[in-house]
Amino acid sequence: MKLILCKDCQDIVRLLPTPKSCFCGKCGGYAIDQQLAVYFGDNAVSIGINNRELKSAVLSQPETGNGEEFTSFVIPKQCPSLFKVKEIRYTLMRVLDSDKNINELVSPNVSYSELATIVSEKQGTFTYIPVERMQRYWHEYLPANPFDFHVQEIRNEDL
Ligand SMILES: [Zn+2]
Repeated sequence: MKLILCKDCQDIVRLLPTPKSCFCGKCGGYAIDQQLAVYFGDNAVSIGINNRELKSAVLSQPETGNGEEFTSFVIPKQCPSLFKVKEIRYTLMRVLDSDKNINELVSPNVSYSELATIVSEKQGTFTYIPVERMQRYWHEYLPANPFDFHVQEIRNEDL
């Protein structure tokens, strides 16, 4: 399990599929999939928890006395499964047919506020996906790739 500790507000957020920010908003992130995650924030520190040990500790929670320990650790600054970005950006799509999940690419890379502006000015139903997840799983969202959306592997140097 990957977490982000904000050194400004001391909040800790778990990196889940839906992007989240810490209490002060300066740090946050999301999980691209089961292995990969994205985070942002100059004062963000990534923390890992050993899931197996946590589950075991939860199952053997004592009634009294000392708590059940499990391992957590600070993740190295360079980590192949955790990518730092300046901010979370989104791919905006129009939902053409919700039954068949046919989507039309509206904008490949916009901030949340740009996305909100575009949607407010257009008609229709929209959906948005964090950019790094879209880059990895575009075929699930745009099966025919009709807009020649370039898929690229995510590398540390790109971010
Ligand atoms: Zn914070």
